[in-house]
Order: sequence, then structure tokens, then C-alpha cells
Amino acid sequence: MATRQLDRLQGALLGTALGDAVGAPFEGRHGIATREVEAWLASSAQLRWTDDTHMAMTLAQVLRDTDGSLDTQRLGDAFAVAYESEPWRGYGAGPPQVFALARGGMTYLEAAGSLFSGSGSFGNGAAMRVAPVALAARGDVDQAAALAETQARVTHTHAEAVDGAVFVATAACVLASGTGDRAEVIALLPRAADLLPSGRVRAAITEIIDAARAGEDPAAVAHDLGTGVAARESVPAAVAAVLVGEDVTSTLVAAVLLGGDTDTIAAMAGAMAGARYGASSIPDRLLARLEDRETLDELASTLLTQGEPDHTG
Ligand SMILES: [Mg+2]
Repeated sequence: MATRQLDRLQGALLGTALGDAVGAPFEGRHGIATREVEAWLASSAQLRWTDDTHMAMTLAQVLRDTDGSLDTQRLGDAFAVAYESEPWRGYGAGPPQVFALARGGMTYLEAAGSLFSGSGSFGNGAAMRVAPVALAARGDVDQAAALAETQARVTHTHAEAVDGAVFVATAACVLASGTGDRAEVIALLPRAADLLPSGRVRAAITEIIDAARAGEDPAAVAHDLGTGVAARESVPAAVAAVLVGEDVTSTLVAAVLLGGDTDTIAAMAGAMAGARYGASSIPDRLLARLEDRETLDELASTLLTQGEPDHTG
């Protein structure tokens, strides 16, 4: 695989963690001022990530240890163990319920499907953590889509939650193969959206992309669609940030300024912007502040090299 594409895919994982950590202090707020976000970016405080990255790292570890195949029971157990070790990471209410039901004897798929009176969660929890599948699939869109869906159903069985995860993973793959040019991004993102069944997530993402293509402000459209924890709101919001941003940092600023579920919107925007611009484009001064950056680098490197054809024999 070309060095440039490896850098882009590594960027998807680092961008997730960086976005999560940059957005975390603003979670739940609206009317955030640009100067507040810029002051936070200019500070020297550690950039501590939340459940989004905690789960992404757990997913990355399981993908590393299972060599491409993904067992939902094994992944669920790993999520549960990680949650028990650091429950203060800002987890939503859903995953701990799934873990408790699984401890009681249900499979993770049964437990996740039983939430919300049997409709499953339509939150963004499966999309926020999905970046490692783009690395494990080494940018292959179809493989990434399949892995994204499998990992989603361990905690999120609602079609909108699955669609959000499939979109973020496949968008990272298509952006990692491009040049990063904005017109090209507007042309590439529909390839990821078109993989989704017609539904609310696809319709909202398409509305955001259409606005950008028409020269309108995608952030204004995202504001109207909403920026809450539902995948049908926050995933399109992350797309809007990608279309507003001109590099990883400005994409994360745009994501945070949308307000609402800022850590997760910025994590998903970071996954896509990281794939668009590459890990090497992210300013060192930000990466130096990022919690446990070494482990993230190691996981990215391992996922990207395993499965590499062996040319030594
Ligand atoms: Mg979070």
C-alpha cells in the first residue's frame, strides 16, 4: 500500500481521538464562540479523550488480535471489560445496559436489540468508534462496510445507528484514496452515502453534501437538522464540518462550533478529516497534548501492517 494512503488511514484513528478530546469540554453546549475553541486549542492542557476513543481503541485491539474476522461476543466482552476498568470516560446509558444484559446470559446482539423496547439504540455510539475498521480493511470500502456493521450491532442494532457507522467507516476509506481537494471530496462522499439503504441518515447526509455543492453553508443545514446524539443528526453534522474545514484543525473547530454532542461530532469529523489530510498533516503541538498518543500510533501501525503481503519469502 502506498505510504500516502497509510498516512491517511492512520489519520482516521488519530483524528478520532483528537476530535473527541478537542470536543469533550464543550459537550451539550450551544452557541459556542469561536474564540473559546481557539483558546482551548492554543492552551497547553492535556487533550483527554472520552468513551468514543476508549471504545475505538478496544475495537482496534480486538481487530488486531482476531486478524480481520470480528466475533461479536469477543468484541462485546472486550467493550465490557474496558467499560468496567474506566467507567468514568463519559459512557452513555446504552452500552452499560447491554453489558449487564449480556452478563445475565443474553448474547450481545440480543441484548443490544432489546434496548428501547426492542428497536435498539439509534444513537451515534457505533459510528463514533468505527475508525479502526477502515485501518483493518486497509481502505477497502466493502470490507470496511461489513466490519462497521458487525461492530455496530454489538451495542446498536437500530438501522440508523448501523448506517451512521457504515458511513463514517466507508467515508474514511474513500477520502483516504483521494487528494483532499474540496470539489473532489464533494464528489467522493456520495460514494459512501450511496452504500447506505435509503433512509433518514442517507437523506440527511445527502442534504448536507447537496448544500455544499450548491455553494450554501453546510453548517447552517446541519444546525437545522440538529446536533444531538442520534446518528441521523450527528453523523450529517460531522460531514458538514468536513465540508467546512480546510485542514484537520479547522474541521474540528467547525465540528465543535455546531454544538450539541460535540465530542462525538468532532470525533467522527476527525476520522474523516484525518483520512482526508493524513496523520502527518496534524500539528505536532496538538498531538503532543493528546492522551496516550503512543498507544494510538502503535494500534494504527499494527492494524495497517497486519495482512500486508509478505514479500520476504
Ligand atoms: Mg464521548
